[in-house]
Amino acid sequence: MNRKNTSPGASDQPAGGPGAGRAPTEPAAPMAPGDEAPPGAPGTGEDTCPRCHGTGRDGPRECPECEGRGTVTVNIGGA
Ligand SMILES: [Zn+2]
Repeated sequence: MNRKNTSPGASDQPAGGPGAGRAPTEPAAPMAPGDEAPPGAPGTGEDTCPRCHGTGRDGPRECPECEGRGTVTVNIGGA
């Protein structure tokens, strides 16, 4: 029943404010299909895209996993 440790920087959003009706699960930052978490989220970090190996390319087109970034956001907390 342990609560996950919350980063102090993540508590700057007012609870029960005028925007409380919005779904809190909707990520504000754009996520690529290969991302495990929104970029910049606590407990996450950038890792080399396993599909394009950091090139950002999948043959002649942009890598669909990282959307051309060459990196994906992965969960690193609690490892
Ligand atoms: Zn990629």
